[in-house]
Amino acid sequence: MASPTLSPCLVNTPNGHIPASQRIPAIARPFVSDRARETLDLLEKFVEEECIPADAVFQQQLGRTTAERFTNHPQIIEDLKTKAQRLGLWNMFLPKNHFKDQGAGFSNLEYGLMAECLGRSDTANEATNCSAPDTGNMEVFAKYGTDEQKRRWLDPLLKGRIRSAFLMTEPQVASSDAKNIELSIRRDGEDYVLNGQKWWSSGAGDTRAKVFLVMGKSDPTNPDPYKQQTVIALPSDTPGITIKRMLSVLGYDDAPHGHGHVFFDNVRVHQRNVILGQGRGFEVVQGRLGPGRIHHAMRSVGAAEKALEYFLARINDPRKKPFGKQLSEHGIMLERVARSRIEIDAARLAVLNAAIMIDQGNAKDARKEIAEVKVQVPAMLIDVIDRAIQAHGGGGVSQDFPLANMFAGARTMRIVDGPDEVHILQLGRNENKRGTVLLGKIEAQKKKTEDLFRQYNVVQRDPLQLDRRSGSVAKL
Ligand SMILES: Cc1cc2nc3c(=O)[nH]c(=O)nc-3n(C[C@H](O)[C@H](O)[C@H](O)COP(=O)(O)OP(=O)(O)OC[C@H]3O[C@@H](n4cnc5c(N)ncnc54)[C@H](O)[C@@H]3O)c2cc1C
Repeated sequence: MASPTLSPCLVNTPNGHIPASQRIPAIARPFVSDRARETLDLLEKFVEEECIPADAVFQQQLGRTTAERFTNHPQIIEDLKTKAQRLGLWNMFLPKNHFKDQGAGFSNLEYGLMAECLGRSDTANEATNCSAPDTGNMEVFAKYGTDEQKRRWLDPLLKGRIRSAFLMTEPQVASSDAKNIELSIRRDGEDYVLNGQKWWSSGAGDTRAKVFLVMGKSDPTNPDPYKQQTVIALPSDTPGITIKRMLSVLGYDDAPHGHGHVFFDNVRVHQRNVILGQGRGFEVVQGRLGPGRIHHAMRSVGAAEKALEYFLARINDPRKKPFGKQLSEHGIMLERVARSRIEIDAARLAVLNAAIMIDQGNAKDARKEIAEVKVQVPAMLIDVIDRAIQAHGGGGVSQDFPLANMFAGARTMRIVDGPDEVHILQLGRNENKRGTVLLGKIEAQKKKTEDLFRQYNVVQRDPLQLDRRSGSVAKL
């Protein structure tokens, strides 16, 4: 693959452009192949020069009304998909160690670096067939699907011909604890019958979403609460499904995929559509989320870089001089720039480290690192975008800049795929397991110190010992 020619559009230092492959942190370099480096540079160029300029056109082509925005299918995205495929920028997300034949043959780390580029644009993910929730759903089919399920759904998903949704969350229960999920999946002869409702069904609004992966309760009396759930693949046109409305995210509709509130009324589906087996829903959900969280996190690092670019552009805009000085001459702005730089770089290292750990073992071995990143990165992104918004004044919260929309998306990251608290509590609980052992270690060290005092015949005393008694200090 020839290295792409550079263009002024890509300038990222005062002296010109440093390609993405040369900006890979030192800690990750040994794990990135030459082919991945070349693809990364090509992808960066594609995103900066083709996708980012297309973002606004895509939005406009969607239309204005809710009905239009969830029906129209902008031509520009199909054109981008064709270009991306021609460039070999397609399905980079399926890791090579688990999916030898289906994906583009990159590791989680290599895709992580690419996802950072994708996170800068609204259209880039779909253009390269790397958008959520399809990526996670394709992993489910690739990992757990039967040959028939793969043929029916994985193949067209991999080709970018259809889209999909994952339906777990329900409005009437606390869904961050998946044991609470209530949608009924009842066996009836060769079929299952589904009744209940789901919301926050991302992707369900897109008329191209032809398959819904639905989690529900199939064995409510099973004594093991982790075996009560089943995931089933449902053609989205099955009779009895109603997408009642779409939910907004801080006012944004996120069309055309959107977030649906979906009702199921005696929806009948053949048992061959069950994923992995009845009662194995938890396994499916857990298998789906590990690497997906890294994808989200890396896209967020890219979004943060984009916000910082807007920040830097604004504080150097010669037309904007509050109190006689350009914003970059006000020290507080540079402090915020520096803080953003430090936080983005730290977050990137944490994500890449988690990706390397997944590559070297699996998502289970990297549970701690994935959870850390799931909490750390959204907080970083929110702070970086917030600083950029502040520097833009009123414009920052308006539609004239992408920052407000980015902020809305970033805020959801503290909730989706399990809210912060769930991961923090788990991290805290695991870290705290060392507490008793550490108490013993510290006591043993103290005891050893006392032994050493005796051995060296040194009187042990407090270095700040004063022994001052009342009346014993000489009057001046
Ligand atoms: C933009 C967006 C897209 C989404 N996409 C999808 C999707 O495609 N498919 C899907 O199924 N779902 C999706 N969701 C739903 C999301 O995964 C859930 O909202 C999330 O898991 C939380 O569940 P809940 O909303 O039921 O909140 P609840 O479970 O009711 O939790 C509410 C709050 O309680 C607190 N809390 C929860 N657990 C604890 C704890 N252990 N300790 C202390 N506090 C706690 C947290 O502050 C939490 O935010 C999406 C959500 C958003 C916002």
